Amino acid sequence: MTKYLKDAFEKHRARLEKSVRERKGPKLASVPVCDFCGGHPKWVYAATRMSAEVGNLPVVNWRWCACELCSKAIDSDDRPALELRVESRLRYLAPSWLIGHPLLLRRAVEFALEDFYTYAMREE
Ligand SMILES: [Zn+2]
Repeated sequence: MTKYLKDAFEKHRARLEKSVRERKGPKLASVPVCDFCGGHPKWVYAATRMSAEVGNLPVVNWRWCACELCSKAIDSDDRPALELRVESRLRYLAPSWLIGHPLLLRRAVEFALEDFYTYAMREE
């Protein structure tokens, strides 16, 4: 079973709230939410890609917020369950072009999870 490196959202809350506030462009929410279902975040997952801050020092990039249920799906390698959660969020946010186009919805779900499964840091 694949374990992904995660940490408590609370430890990163201040920074994550600040980054949401300062985000440019369209926002889906004014506070950090679960990146998979839009729920209340409990955990953050790290990306293998570091980001650079002051002095260009590499820092861990706590990239994805996850609620308790999405985190359980991730930690138990239950990708179908996670896909369903992403799918219901997309249906909820759904621009009308998704409705009645199952293949587009399918591709949008895969696209949403691609980054996570490619770049989430695995614990070995
Ligand atoms: Zn969630």
